[in-house]
Amino acid sequence: DTIGRNLDRTVAAWPDREALVDVPSGRRWTYAQFAADVGELACALLASGVAQGDRVGIWAVNCAEWVLVQYATARIGAVMVSINPAYRTHEVRFVLDQAGISLLFASLRHRTSDYRAMVEEVRHACPRLREAVYIGDPSWEAFTARGAHPSDGLRDELRDREAALSCDDPINIQYTSGTTGFPKGATLSHHNILNNGYFVGESIGYTEQDRICVPVPFYHCFGMVMGSLAATSHGACTVVPAPSFEPGATLDAVQRERCTSLYGVPTMFIAELNLPDFASYDLSSLRTGIMAGSPCPVEVMKRVVTEMHMEQVSICYGMTETSPVSLQTRVEDDLEHRTATVGRVLPHVEVKVVDPATGVTRPRGTAGELCTRGYSVMLGYWDEPGKTAEAIDAGRWMHTGDLAVMREDGYVEIVGRIKDMIIRGGENIYPREIEEFLYAHPGVRDVQVVGVPHERYGEEVLACVIPADPADPLTLEDLRSFCAGRLAHYKIPSRLRILDSFPMTVSGKVRKVELRETYGV
Ligand code: ATP
Ligand code: MG
Repeated sequence: DTIGRNLDRTVAAWPDREALVDVPSGRRWTYAQFAADVGELACALLASGVAQGDRVGIWAVNCAEWVLVQYATARIGAVMVSINPAYRTHEVRFVLDQAGISLLFASLRHRTSDYRAMVEEVRHACPRLREAVYIGDPSWEAFTARGAHPSDGLRDELRDREAALSCDDPINIQYTSGTTGFPKGATLSHHNILNNGYFVGESIGYTEQDRICVPVPFYHCFGMVMGSLAATSHGACTVVPAPSFEPGATLDAVQRERCTSLYGVPTMFIAELNLPDFASYDLSSLRTGIMAGSPCPVEVMKRVVTEMHMEQVSICYGMTETSPVSLQTRVEDDLEHRTATVGRVLPHVEVKVVDPATGVTRPRGTAGELCTRGYSVMLGYWDEPGKTAEAIDAGRWMHTGDLAVMREDGYVEIVGRIKDMIIRGGENIYPREIEEFLYAHPGVRDVQVVGVPHERYGEEVLACVIPADPADPLTLEDLRSFCAGRLAHYKIPSRLRILDSFPMTVSGKVRKVELRETYGV
């Protein structure tokens, strides 16, 4: 179905249930109010001459308007382009140009960043950009007012436009996290992302009773598909705790709004669990949530289940290019399956594990490259047919670049990214295995393991550690004696860096590529 028609069904079923809460501003919308504001904004877009397929950019931190723009653009068949809020003039100009954006919604200001000044700076260099509207500024009100009392003509236009939409139309350009290089823009259809949001919500049993706290960015697929689309397609409520991730604000929102579900990448849960006043938050309303994006240390998972009451927390594996989720654990899965695996394949999606060199399917129990096929595979990278052809083969299989093992029972373990694998003296080393092991060291708060060049072995193992006690950081000796006799000698880190933090993407992933570049010399 199209996103707009799906929203109509939710509104008809639960007009008075809460759809959206913006905690910082205290604003809230029932589904009836939300649909009315989306309708007004959709009419404003039409009145501003936005045609079907036109690209409308959104460059903003999390706020309620983000979700309104998402639904209003979907209603009229414009392609919403989600722009990383961490971008600065150089990158935003690149995206405005590459995607041919004609209308841009932007944050006004966030922390020290003045988005308006940056937009005005790049504007003259992007001739296709006709108009910029600033959220939280009178220009937003002036824009939405164009759709406030739509004429009969405008109403008819909206109806005709909606009737003409197909669920296979492109509706979104979403950028990958840029963990391994420059982000790529995945072009996605209504069918891609609406179904994915719906099925992810099904796996964790969302109903109209659920209240989902979304501290992950809407600009990324985690926030917009597993967040707002999963919520809305089940009549649940999306709770926005803060413009960008803050552990205290997140737990505060869960407590205040009695959220039943909480999202995050593992590093976010680690930050929340490590808050000095963690024990003072009442998190008893939580039952579930989603952890995704990168591997979760077992110890963290155990604390999330016991101390955050998220007994039914689900692990998702996916990538922007596949809308994003293809594998997910279910509420009935035991802790072992929710820590060691990323669950089983979602309905109507296929996965296989192949030899990366030959493409031949590998037997269960052996590692190979994970490939995905089904409704969720993107239409392609925007304006990059060469890159699309490298990623999606003639049989429509998306090659993920991740190494995985499928167990006999169909559960899949993610071993790591092919690009992160360390090859030391001919031995393949998977950083995740060493990270899991070191995580159990009491002096380690967080750890990343990367391969760095070595003359004799090709690569050697570097451990980057955030110490539990910065005043008394552990030494390489400590680390090595902890590993001795318990890890194969070639896996034991030969180098150690003590750090305060790791370089992160806005979606909360550690940029190993940057650790390698910075400390590999
Ligand atoms: P880029 O492609 O720009 O380098 P990225 O791959 O991090 O960045 P995303 O599409 O946001 O961009 O993330 C998808 C990747 O995240 C997957 O290919 C996989 O490596 C990793 N990933 C996602 N979920 C999990 C998970 N549950 N466990 C381990 N890794 C995961
Ligand atoms: Mg990727």
